[in-house]
This record gives sequence, structure tokens and C-alpha cells, in this order.
Amino acid sequence: MPDYKAPLRDMRFVLNEVLDLDGHYAKLGLEEVNSELLNAFLEEGAKFAENELAPLNRSGDEEGCHFENGVVTTPKGFKEAYAKYVEGGWPAMGGDPEFGGQGLPGSSSIAISEMTGTANWSWSMYPGLSHGAVATIEAHGTDEQKNAYLPKLTSGEWTGTMCLTEPHCGSDLGILKTKAEPQGDGSYAITGTKIFISAGEHDMAENIVHIVLARLPDAPKGTKGISLFIVPKFHTDGNGGVGERNGVTCGSIEHKMGIKASATCVMNFDGATGYLIGPENKGLNCMFTFMNFARLGTAIQGVAHAELGFQGGLAYAKERLAMRSLAGPKNPDGPADPIIVHPDVRRMLLTSKAFAEGGRALVYLCAQLGDQVKLAQDDEERKQADDLMALLTPIAKAFVTEVGLEAANHGVQIYGGHGFIREWGMEQNVRDARISTLYEGTTGIQALDLLGRKVMMTQGQALRNFTKIVHKFCEAHGDNADLKELVEPLAAYNKEWGEMTQAVGMQAMQNPEYVGGAAVDYLMYSGYVTLAYLWARMAAKAQEQLAAGAGDEDFYKAKISTARFYMKRILPRAAGHKGAIEGGLDCMMELDAEHFAF
Ligand SMILES: Cc1cc2nc3c(=O)[nH]c(=O)nc-3n(C[C@H](O)[C@H](O)[C@H](O)COP(=O)(O)OP(=O)(O)OC[C@H]3O[C@@H](n4cnc5c(N)ncnc54)[C@H](O)[C@@H]3O)c2cc1C
Repeated sequence: MPDYKAPLRDMRFVLNEVLDLDGHYAKLGLEEVNSELLNAFLEEGAKFAENELAPLNRSGDEEGCHFENGVVTTPKGFKEAYAKYVEGGWPAMGGDPEFGGQGLPGSSSIAISEMTGTANWSWSMYPGLSHGAVATIEAHGTDEQKNAYLPKLTSGEWTGTMCLTEPHCGSDLGILKTKAEPQGDGSYAITGTKIFISAGEHDMAENIVHIVLARLPDAPKGTKGISLFIVPKFHTDGNGGVGERNGVTCGSIEHKMGIKASATCVMNFDGATGYLIGPENKGLNCMFTFMNFARLGTAIQGVAHAELGFQGGLAYAKERLAMRSLAGPKNPDGPADPIIVHPDVRRMLLTSKAFAEGGRALVYLCAQLGDQVKLAQDDEERKQADDLMALLTPIAKAFVTEVGLEAANHGVQIYGGHGFIREWGMEQNVRDARISTLYEGTTGIQALDLLGRKVMMTQGQALRNFTKIVHKFCEAHGDNADLKELVEPLAAYNKEWGEMTQAVGMQAMQNPEYVGGAAVDYLMYSGYVTLAYLWARMAAKAQEQLAAGAGDEDFYKAKISTARFYMKRILPRAAGHKGAIEGGLDCMMELDAEHFAF
């Protein structure tokens, strides 16, 4: 695979031209943040990702993490790269200035997260989870907790984790068993085992702050009896430093299919001292701050693997020679034509490009909405952004990771047999991508969240709010002859989305299980239509720039061309998902569990 090159032109296009972040920041009253500042971050972030992290991606995969007597050592170079990251002030970008942060809005660092993640996903998980811990303590911690943990977490000197999963439960947190017993001094003794904890133990920071779900004695059963705790690896010494060791240790690390350089830990809490965050028994609500953060983070992973698959595939497709173009030789002096002449190779390349760039636009849009949720002055604007973000989060998390995995697979396919061979790096991309559809809520769980909670429980209102936005866009561009072939199918699918939702709702009223049968197809349908909207928006902006003589013609023409490919060759997949939903539930449920085999 060629060296990772940060797609700065495309990032700028989405941030500055499509999403107009300058206008967005001005509206939020953030005068000091603008595209000039963002461009400077992008340049520096790209250098860090390309020069410091990308070179460690393959070696980290080969070496993996080491575990000995409760101590985890990360692969060669990881610790040093993290030290540079902290020294560069990167972890503090979005942090609260009161605790040493730079107070920048989330959208200003989204591209940095994409670049570090694409260069080296395993490495990026260590700082990635810390951001979620910071957001959770900022939102729900007491002043004392904020003062004790936020300065070092914000600077990156300490890292954070998210401790939900237990050996017997991941999706169903209502049955978790970890106990929290009051110790009479305001703290709690936390006892239990958490598994699969990313960055649970490592050698990159002097302290690790675990954000842990546990149950108080006599707590109600299910999700209503879960509370949230801060459990530090080392107690604080009262002066901002580390004190004594707490009763939390790493029992082992997992041997995994991918992201091998990310330590996935079994964490044993043996009466470890923990501090309650937020109200008793409302822990899951508070943890949603972390989870929503992590879901958007995982959506970035989808973009990352699509981008790597595309970059690797494109370089190879231009060089590898095989057979002749059916339209006549394109490389007559050579023994064969480069494989990029073949329609099927183009299909794979364009699919990957469409998912990488479309996914980028969706994730960045979510980050922009996140700014509005946090900073908009107007209540109504804040609420609208919050509702839209709630609807788009499961789509971004699950759809973008599913298609990111598809693109990673296309990357291997474009290399032919060489894609299967380790030294090319394309198979690592697939192995690393595979986890993204599983953690932070599997695709099935995200689909239930979308259809059950976000759509059905709002009686379709959240969806109607979004389809109205899409409808307005289509109306505004309805007279544009050049965009007709893009806007017409978008308008048709957008209308059908609402009708299909009504039909699903009617079926669900008769049989609630219908939602479970429809959910994943519904999510994929929603994803294809959402990306179609973003592709149409990108094409409209590209066309506007061409008409205005903004230069960079090749870039804008490629945008419009990819949008056309998306509408003609990818969006029709949505119809298949609709057909599958209409296939109904009975054919899924009629076989008794004991009759599945033989
Ligand atoms: C490398 C790695 C890193 C991780 N990092 C963390 C971390 O940092 N912190 C953390 O807390 N956890 C972490 N996890 C755990 C991860 O979030 C869970 O594995 C995931 O949520 C799924 O839970 P599970 O494995 O228990 O699967 P299960 O919940 O047992 O699910 C098994 C299957 O059943 C399906 N299923 C379950 N319930 C339903 C339902 N009601 N309807 C339809 N389908 C259903 C699921 O979709 C899935 O396909 C990590 C896991 C891995 C492998």
C-alpha cells in the first residue's frame, strides 16, 4: 500500500465550501475560529499523521501489544508518538479553557481525528477514548471531580477508558453485574470484571481514568439501576499528580483479528475506589455522552478504512497491467493496459471513493451539528440540531462502518491475489475495519436504535424534520438542468423513505417484532439516501464553484462525476433493502430454533 496522504483538498471542500464553517462559527459567535485557523490545523495534523503515525501502522500490527504481570507495553514507537502528540497540544484542542483546553468547537478537530485514525487506527484509540472521558466528566462531573481529573485528561498526560462490557453482556447492559458499595466517605468500592476495554492498560500515560458502569446495592433491575463512576488507576495526590495505586488491574489482553496495536483489556475491579458521576441509577443516561462521542468516533473509522482502501487501490490500479481495454488498447506501447481501464476496477474504485468522501461529509456534518447542540444561543436551533444529530448518529455509526468495510474489501480485490498477501497492507485494512461494525453497538443494535427509538418513538417526527431539509434542497435545485439527474432520484427516494416508514409503522403496530426484522435494511436504506443527499449537496457546490470560475476544475468535475456514479450505481441498492423489508417477518421467524440445523 502506498504511504497515507491526507486528503486535505477534500477535507477543505467539505469543511469550508459545503458546510461553510466560517459562516457557522460566526453564527455561533466564535469569532476567533475560522477557515484560516482550521487550514493551519489541517496542515500540521496531516504532517503528524503522515510522518509520525502512518509509519507505525504496519509495524504496530506485526508486533501487537505485550502483556506481562498486569503490565501492557504498546508496540515500538507508539509511546514516543503519543508523547509528541501531547507535546503538540493536540489532545487539548476541544477541552474547556478552565482546565487547560483550547476551547475549540468539536468540528475544528474532526478532520484531525480522521487523519490520525486513517494513518493508524490502533494508535488513535488511545487518545480517542480520552476525549469521550473528558466530555463525560465535563457534562456530569462535580466541580471537585472536574478539578481533579480534567486538567491531566485534557492535556493528554492521563488517558481515559469506557468500561461497559462484561463477560456475559455487551449489547444488553441492563444485565451487567459490577457492584458499587458505598464506603461511608462518599466514595464507593467497585467490584467486578469488565472485558474488551480499549486502552484499559498501557504505557503511554502516567495515569488511566476509567469511566465505569456499576450497580448500587438494591438498585432496580435493568437499565434503570445502573450508575456511573470514575475509577482512576492511581489516586490523585491532591496536587494534580498521582498518588497510591487503586484496586483496578489488567488481567489479560485479547488476541484479535485486527487493531492489534490497540490494547483490548480484561479489567478486574477488586473493591477499587470509585466516585459517582451524575445521579444514582442514571448512569446509563450519563454514559450516553461518552457513547455518542464514541459512535461518531467509530463513524470516522468507517471513513478511514474507505479512504485507505481507495488510496491503496487507486495507486495499484494505475500501475498494474492486465489485458486490454475492451474499447481498444490504452497503453499500446506496453504489454497490457493498466487495470484502471477496466469498468469493474473502476466500479470498485468509485464505490470506495464515493463512500470515503460521502462518509466524510456525513461525519463532518454531525460534528457541525454537535457544535450547534453545545453552543447555539437559540433554544429552538439547539433542539433542532440535537434531534437531527440523534437521528443521524446511528446512521453515521452503522452505515458508514458497513460501507467502510465494503470499501476496504474492494481495496483487497483491486490488488487481486496480492491483496491477500500481508506485505501490501490491504488485508490489514480489512482486519482493522472489521471491528467497526461490532463495537459501540453492533449494526443490529444501531438499527434498532434508529428505527425503534429515533423514528418510531418520535412518531416519525425526527425523520420528517430531516426529509423536509432534503425536500427543500431538491426544490431549490429543481430547475437546475445540470443537476437534474442527481436531484430527481434523491427526491424520489426521499419521498419513498417517509412512505416506507409509515408502512413499517403500521406493521409494527400489529406486531412489534416487525421492527426487529426490518431494522438493518431500514438503516441501510436510510444510509444510502442520507449519503445521496450529501452527494447532491457536494455536486451542487462543485457546480456553483465551476460556474463562478473558482479554478480547480479537475477537482470539481471529479466531484460531480462521482456524485453521478453514486446516484446511478449505488443509490439503487436502497430499493433492494426496501424489497427485503417488504418480504416481511414471517419467513424469518417460522423456523423453530431447534430446527435450524439438519
Ligand atoms: C476490540 C474491541 C474493543 C472494544 N472496546 C470496548 C471498550 O472500550 N469498552 C467497552 O465497554 N466495550 C468495548 N468493546 C465491547 C463491544 O462494545 C461489544 O463487544 C459489543 O457492544 C457487542 O457486545 P457483545 O460482544 O456482548 O455481543 P452480544 O451483545 O452478545 O451480541 C451478539 C450478537 O447478537 C446481536 N444482538 C444482541 N441483542 C440483540 C437484539 N436485541 N436484537 C438484535 N440483535 C441483537 C448483536 O447485534 C450481535 O450480532 C470492545 C470490543 C472489542 C472486540
